Amino acid sequence: MKIAVVGTGYVGLVTGTCFAETGNTVTCIDIDQNKVNKLKSGKVTIYEPGLEQLFERNIKQERLSFTTKLSEGIKDAKVIFLALPTPPGEDGAADLKYVLKVADDLGPLLEDYTVIVDESTVPVGTADKVRQRIAAKAKVEFDVVSNPEFLREGVAVDDFMKPERVVIGTTSTKARKLMETLYAPYVRQGNPLVFMDERSAELTKYAANSFLATKISFMNEIANLCELVGADVDAVRKGIGTDSRIGKRFLFPGIGYGGSCFPKDVQALAKSAADAQYEFKILKAVMDVNTTQKTKLIDRIKKYFGGSLKGKTIAVWGLSFKPHTDDIREAPALYNIEEFLKEGAIVKAHDPEAMENVKQLFDSKISYFDSAYDAAEGADAIFIATEWPEFRTPDFEKLTSLVKARVIFDGRNVYELDVMKEQGFTYFSIGREVVN
Ligand code: NAD
Repeated sequence: MKIAVVGTGYVGLVTGTCFAETGNTVTCIDIDQNKVNKLKSGKVTIYEPGLEQLFERNIKQERLSFTTKLSEGIKDAKVIFLALPTPPGEDGAADLKYVLKVADDLGPLLEDYTVIVDESTVPVGTADKVRQRIAAKAKVEFDVVSNPEFLREGVAVDDFMKPERVVIGTTSTKARKLMETLYAPYVRQGNPLVFMDERSAELTKYAANSFLATKISFMNEIANLCELVGADVDAVRKGIGTDSRIGKRFLFPGIGYGGSCFPKDVQALAKSAADAQYEFKILKAVMDVNTTQKTKLIDRIKKYFGGSLKGKTIAVWGLSFKPHTDDIREAPALYNIEEFLKEGAIVKAHDPEAMENVKQLFDSKISYFDSAYDAAEGADAIFIATEWPEFRTPDFEKLTSLVKARVIFDGRNVYELDVMKEQGFTYFSIGREVVN
């Protein structure tokens, strides 16, 4: 099938590449000329495990191509995916200007029956708006389908190739058939294509992300309480996670959620609810907890250093909002680095994939190191912001020989308390005893 994907970011590039992988011919379109030049020259523009291999193979097989021209990219496409940004507007609602602009542009370009798929995370009613915009200028029949994307950065290729479920919102039989054909190779193991109406599909995505964010904020509150009453959040986590109604996943406390989705999606759902005259009380709490949690360790660090961080060297391990991605959007690490700099500390940073993106923000205000050990050299404390696997079992002897003091502030509970005791580190984590 000939497919077009409009927007070639984290979602669009994975979508385009993975659709090409099962034999479709895919053109990815982006207005960012630099991005398209890079992709055309055979370079992947994001870090996503497993993507490069698929990308190279499908370019070689001439199933995957790139352009900045919408008219050229959508030519003969039976299905057009919109993987466009929906950033928060000033009032917290998802800004639809990118999606609606492309909808306006598409109308006059359609030459035959086409299915236009909203893959972006968009508020309820967007499919109707996109339909109206296209209809205003289209001369052919078309359908607009809501197919929110559930891939997770860091495992996006696996998620796309073997999704737990695919949510498809459409009331058109013709569009449904096409979507079934397109997704058939991805759900061969029996995972469901969940069909519903467009509005329910749109809300499903926000409900999923907001529920997951709620789980995180809930556990962060449990962790904060553990610290006050002398309980251990790891034990509590295991104790509740074994209850199948609760489940083991998404119960890890830390310095809050970040990324390009949870913060904006929780905010957008709260705004959608408010617009419908409904006060979604839980969501406000979820956001409030996350805001304070992100810089929760700063007070402790200041207290540890007698009230001031002036002249202290902090090694920051991990910059991306989560492991296995170079995405730093809303990354808690960034909020903490800003606080460190404000307090007059010197920041030495290491991240396996995200340093190039952070350089564009902080430039020479902080220094960057290719290894966690180099970042730790001469540090008064190590601050862990992202739980990259490489931080889990460092050579503690080597580390001890490098740092100025054996102090770790761990925003992701990477180490067992016993290990820290054995290694003689002063260790602050989330919701657990302080090791001194
Ligand atoms: P992104 O910012 O990485 O990519 C969006 C791309 O769209 C950019 O490359 C941008 O240049 C391009 N673009 C903007 N206007 C354009 C236009 N008129 N024509 C062509 N290209 C245009 O965003 P993303 O992370 O891929 O997210 C896209 C959507 O998917 C959002 O709604 C997001 O909420 C949702 N989503 C994201 C994830 C994720 O993990 N990143 C997961 C699921 C859903």
